[in-house]
Amino acid sequence: MRDLPTATVRNQVLVPMRFAGGFATTARVFTFRGLVDGREHLALGLGAHAAAVSRDAADRPPLVRLHSECLTGDVLGSERCDCGPQLAEAVEAIADAGGFLLYLRQEGRGIGLYAKIDAYALQDDGLDTYEANLALGYAADARDYTPAAQMLRALGVDRVALLSNNPDKAAQLAAFGITVADRMPTGVHLNPANARYLATKAARGEHTLALPVDVAAG
Ligand SMILES: [Zn+2]
Repeated sequence: MRDLPTATVRNQVLVPMRFAGGFATTARVFTFRGLVDGREHLALGLGAHAAAVSRDAADRPPLVRLHSECLTGDVLGSERCDCGPQLAEAVEAIADAGGFLLYLRQEGRGIGLYAKIDAYALQDDGLDTYEANLALGYAADARDYTPAAQMLRALGVDRVALLSNNPDKAAQLAAFGITVADRMPTGVHLNPANARYLATKAARGEHTLALPVDVAAG
């Protein structure tokens, strides 16, 4: 098992939230001390999250999503990716089941906002999302989920049902001793602008996405 430095909860506050689709809930927002990358990651406790943490091992663990920040998708409604709809879907599902959404400040799969825009420019010249990152001198996916594992531990969570199509997230959490008892796929949020991006994620990132055949092939 990989060594996991201890982080602690720094503060927590209730935030009522209303999403564009009309869904409303109240999140308990947690901040942390001691995260290895020094970034200001947030955890949102949703629904009956405290009860989910204290459940017996035989019962369903808290539903957890590791959401990487995407300013263009989450805030600006960009259709070049599916982050905005995924965020809204995850908040709703977790509020229903009880659990946590970790909002990770890993813009552009960890390369940053400006570099992500540079990668979009290269994609407009024909590279796919992974090739574009490599052409800019970055890893295809630079995300390290050590802070996410630290946050879960600080919240008393050592067993999760993971809301994700990305096997790397489950593998990294498991390496830190977080038991991924169950994996739930997220929905497919397809539009004309993100079809190629989603097909690339499915093909190159080994995401488990149930795409229509014509999109997956293209
Ligand atoms: Zn995005």
